[in-house]
Amino acid sequence: MTSPQIDFWDWEGKHLKVRVLYSKAGLATQILVFDIEEQHIYLVDVGDGILRDLVSLPKMFYENIQAVLCTHGHFDHVGGLFSLLGFLRMINRSKELLLIFPSGVTEIEGIVTAFQKSYSDSIPYKLKIHEIEKETQINQVTIASFPVQHRGSIIGGKELPNIPSVGYIIEKQGEKILYTGDTGYFEGLKEFIEDVDFALIEGTFKDKKTPFHLSIPEAEELGKLAKKHKIIHQHTPRKD
Ligand SMILES: [Zn+2]
Ligand SMILES: [Zn+2]
Repeated sequence: MTSPQIDFWDWEGKHLKVRVLYSKAGLATQILVFDIEEQHIYLVDVGDGILRDLVSLPKMFYENIQAVLCTHGHFDHVGGLFSLLGFLRMINRSKELLLIFPSGVTEIEGIVTAFQKSYSDSIPYKLKIHEIEKETQINQVTIASFPVQHRGSIIGGKELPNIPSVGYIIEKQGEKILYTGDTGYFEGLKEFIEDVDFALIEGTFKDKKTPFHLSIPEAEELGKLAKKHKIIHQHTPRKD
């Protein structure tokens, strides 16, 4: 089977390929995982700008989306979901779309409800909701989720509670890629990352330690446990 011939991928295995389309903390994160044999796309997190990212690619990248996986409900990870659902309606997608996320993510429930309510009788594809508990199988791809430690930044001096948030391990025929989603450091994170073929690890802050995000030095340490890694979700200071 052929793969799109562009110098494009962040990581290429025998069965899977990965490309981070965009990732900045507080702006957007979207990641493509490509199943080479099936020519399926798994879109992991779907922040703002998703359509601009997708339409800059050959159309198979959006026509072949098999599932959308979200790690948590923060806007920088789900802000593009309504746009994506609308775009797929506009291009008259007929194939079922699977939407995977941890249970209790009210933002996603709200987006899906608004979409379905607004276009109830004119959505040409079936949207299948899967609140992932542990893992699910799609053809030969196993998608496993693991709980991480995350909450909103302190807003107005108010300490916020933890939110439903997961990382994902996507595996095909022994090839494993991992994405931490947004998380602070916790014991046990190491075990998930150990020996995966490719790990995408959030490293939000340059050196600041917080309970709900990793710093770049923490992410680098964790990254060494995987065969290859890339640090994503860096914080970009705002301009004056
Ligand atoms: Zn984020
Ligand atoms: Zn977050």
